[in-house]
Amino acid sequence: MVEVRNITKYFGDLKVLKGVNFKVNRGEVVCILGPSGSGKSTMLRCLNQLERITDGEIYIEGELMDQRKNNRTVNHIDAGRLQQLRCDLGMVFQNFNLFPHLNVIENVTVAPITVLKANKQEITKRGLELLDMVGLKDRAYEYPIRLSGGQQQRVAIARALAMNPKIMLFDEPTSALDPELVGDVLGTMRQLADDGMTMIIVTHEIGFAREVADRVIFMDNGVICEEGTPEQVIDHPQEERTQSFLKKIL
Ligand code: ADP
Ligand code: MG
Repeated sequence: MVEVRNITKYFGDLKVLKGVNFKVNRGEVVCILGPSGSGKSTMLRCLNQLERITDGEIYIEGELMDQRKNNRTVNHIDAGRLQQLRCDLGMVFQNFNLFPHLNVIENVTVAPITVLKANKQEITKRGLELLDMVGLKDRAYEYPIRLSGGQQQRVAIARALAMNPKIMLFDEPTSALDPELVGDVLGTMRQLADDGMTMIIVTHEIGFAREVADRVIFMDNGVICEEGTPEQVIDHPQEERTQSFLKKIL
């Protein structure tokens, strides 16, 4: 479903990704752990082309999406196809980023209406189903400011799902939440995982990663340091850097 080959990313002279390789299979849930500044967000942003890689290749569903050499494009798909592939990758950020001037159902439906040219009535019906799934159907006509952080994040998840993505990317989706609100958001994510969604999740929620992830990747300093099942990486880490990171957060 996703394959990245030997990706590097520079910001100016700063080398943030130093040759990253991984694959994610259909239906797989992969959790990425790692200290702050290790390049996790940059990795996700490169995947959905919010950032351009400096070197390497990205494949989505076997299709070469981006291939760069020394900061130059070797191979790139056309703009229409890129747009489609971007729609295939739903993204949920740490800070929800809901549109404050739109109510909940409008937040969920605005992109399908403007980008996908979805029929307003049909997408509103679908949006209400998605809000029901995340437990917020009764808040559909509220504005984001009236919702808790956890509710806003669940709206953000419904909004991403309204684009019918094939893969969901989560960048520390619960890090900005009060502790008592984390559980509902993780519950929604767990449900998505159970429904077979392919997911790449950057998180510090070790308990969640242990239970829900098929595979855990530990990143440090721009490289993948260790990778394996939750049991291998979380319970029996082999690398010293993984061990010391886990010791700090557990
Ligand atoms: P993580 O998500 O693991 O905390 P990031 O991917 O956000 O790490 O950042 C990795 C490194 O790249 C950090 O040193 C950060 O300061 C730097 N960085 C991230 N984004 C930019 C940017 N747009 N411009 C310059 N440096 C950046
Ligand atoms: Mg980050």
